[in-house]
Amino acid sequence: MKRITVKLALFFIFLICISSALSFFVSTLFTHNIENEMKLNQEVIAISILGLEQKTDLSIEEIVNIIPTSMYDVRRIEDIGLMEITKEELEKIQNHEILFMSHSRFRDPTTILMLGDDYIQISLHPHNTIFKIVASRVWFSLFLYVVIGALLIILLAKRVVKPILKLTSATQEVAKGNFDIQVENKSYDEIGQLTKNFNKMTRELKNIEYLRKDFITNVSHEFKTPIASIQGFAKLLQKGNLSEEEKQEYTNIIVEETARLSNLSSNILKLSKLENQEKVEKKIAFSLDEQIRKSILLLEHQWSKKNIEFDIELDKVQYQGDEELLQQVWMNLLGNAIKFSNSNSIIDIRLNQTATTVKVKITDHGIGMSEKTMVRIFEKFYQGDKAHSYEGSGLGLSLVKRILDLCGGNVYVESKLNEGSTFTVKLPLQY
Ligand code: ADP
Repeated sequence: MKRITVKLALFFIFLICISSALSFFVSTLFTHNIENEMKLNQEVIAISILGLEQKTDLSIEEIVNIIPTSMYDVRRIEDIGLMEITKEELEKIQNHEILFMSHSRFRDPTTILMLGDDYIQISLHPHNTIFKIVASRVWFSLFLYVVIGALLIILLAKRVVKPILKLTSATQEVAKGNFDIQVENKSYDEIGQLTKNFNKMTRELKNIEYLRKDFITNVSHEFKTPIASIQGFAKLLQKGNLSEEEKQEYTNIIVEETARLSNLSSNILKLSKLENQEKVEKKIAFSLDEQIRKSILLLEHQWSKKNIEFDIELDKVQYQGDEELLQQVWMNLLGNAIKFSNSNSIIDIRLNQTATTVKVKITDHGIGMSEKTMVRIFEKFYQGDKAHSYEGSGLGLSLVKRILDLCGGNVYVESKLNEGSTFTVKLPLQY
């Protein structure tokens, strides 16, 4: 991942390097050149002064008045002792050498020479400092540097801020309830990551919204059918003129439908409670094989009607967990195995323990499932095509899945249409 901080840091380091290098060149190169240029200029002036002195009868005052240019001032030094010059330098001047002095970068260059018994100083006019000369020469390049730099920074800032602006307007759309929005993303830096996560979030929100709407539709649908049937039979009973047998039949239907409604609402409540639960709360040690046997007994009413037999092989397993929740798992899986089994068939139940897990396998020889059904059976309210003729609401396996999620376990299915199904539950011994 290329970090935006690294990008910005590199960019600014690059800018600083360029600007420092430029300033360095400007200050050294130019000042050095200017100094040389001044030395030459002052030397020419000094030679002209000496030439005038030798070839003409002009007095020193006259020469000093003729020579000055717009840039340089020529003066007679009243007291050489007041000048900041060394003994060696003074000796050189007295030996008729032209002395150029520029001891520091901030001191204006000066040339001193001897004319007769007088000392002459050639220096910049007081209003003409070296700084002013450099500034007058480089101001345009500096100005260009600032303008170009500013333009580049503005362009870069726009580039950096553009995706943030896009994200801002996208979040406003989400706030209005539009979850279809996706922000185009090509970068891999932090903003790219943020955009990617934002897109993921809107997709999730869309799914949740869809599930919520779907859930409401399913719940209403599941409640509507038994209520309509109760209403219909209650009206028939209200009208009277019915035989005892008819009365008995209609009241039985009403009782069954109310039981179905009560079962449905208690399953919805259980599922919603489990979905809000983060972990298993009540952990106690109990015998898992005992629990499975007890569940089979509790379902006797259903399997005896279909003359179903059981082939049971259960290891002795001591398990620590929520007894009530796990009982629900076996009741639902065994209930389905019995419900979808053919009459006079066998249901195999196996319980095996390894060092870290327990495995429970429930195999029936019933209607089985198509591939299409298999992938959807753990969805809320889903019932397979063939299952509609059986009693049920499509919540049983959703509950099983949720309970096993909470226990750190999982459940999977193998099935063949018209041959039967095997549900395997894996539970960790420690979670
Ligand atoms: P319900 O049993 O109330 O319909 P479930 O959530 O328990 O709901 O099961 C969902 C669907 O999975 C069933 O409608 C059925 O199509 C399929 N199914 C579950 N268990 C079996 C099984 N043992 N044999 C065949 N199909 C099954």
